[in-house]
Amino acid sequence: MCGIIGYIGGDDALPILREGLSNLDYRGYDSAGIALAGSSMDVYKKQGELSALTSILPERSTATAGIGHTRWSTHGEPTDANAHPHTNESGDVAVVHNGIIENYDTLKTELESRGHEFTSETDTEVVPHLVEEELASGLGLVEAVSAVVERLEGSYAFAVVAAGHDGIVATRRGNPLVLGHADHGAFLASDVPAFVEHTRRVSYPEDGDIVHLTEAG
Ligand code: GLU
Repeated sequence: MCGIIGYIGGDDALPILREGLSNLDYRGYDSAGIALAGSSMDVYKKQGELSALTSILPERSTATAGIGHTRWSTHGEPTDANAHPHTNESGDVAVVHNGIIENYDTLKTELESRGHEFTSETDTEVVPHLVEEELASGLGLVEAVSAVVERLEGSYAFAVVAAGHDGIVATRRGNPLVLGHADHGAFLASDVPAFVEHTRRVSYPEDGDIVHLTEAG
């Protein structure tokens, strides 16, 4: 098990994500990371305890959207490079993922043949590269994630942010995903304790649903 969290709203996303990850630590993990989607995409990730991640995080940020992850390795050792979030080469698409993408090897070979370069041993890393290709073909983020899901086999819950695209897009198949609805923002997580200090209004997407969290909800 691992944990994912996402937040978008009117507040600094950084402390909300940091506390959310700490609330999910009962699920077990070997690495952790955060992507802040503000005027730039800033990714921080570290193998080991959350305190290792905290030691490289700034105190606060100006980002009002972001995603976070506690990893329980299935593909690749627990290292900084294998920790999530994973990105494409330019670092403008970031993904956190819980679960296993069974056909990642085939997808990775295909992507490499089109020139994509990988920096981790994870199954997850195919997702940001696939999303990048769909965005480059002119799709919006929701449509891009929908198209990518068509290509994936396995079980997963994942969340995506992309520079220049509004909000956080997430989906699930066989792995948990819960949404939290606050007056000024929205949350996603593997489990309610991640954001329970902020809202108790929750909803549960079903397998195959694509959710789009924006500042409006
Ligand atoms: N399969 C992914 C990895 O090994 C995600 C593992 C998880 O659920 O934490 O990085």
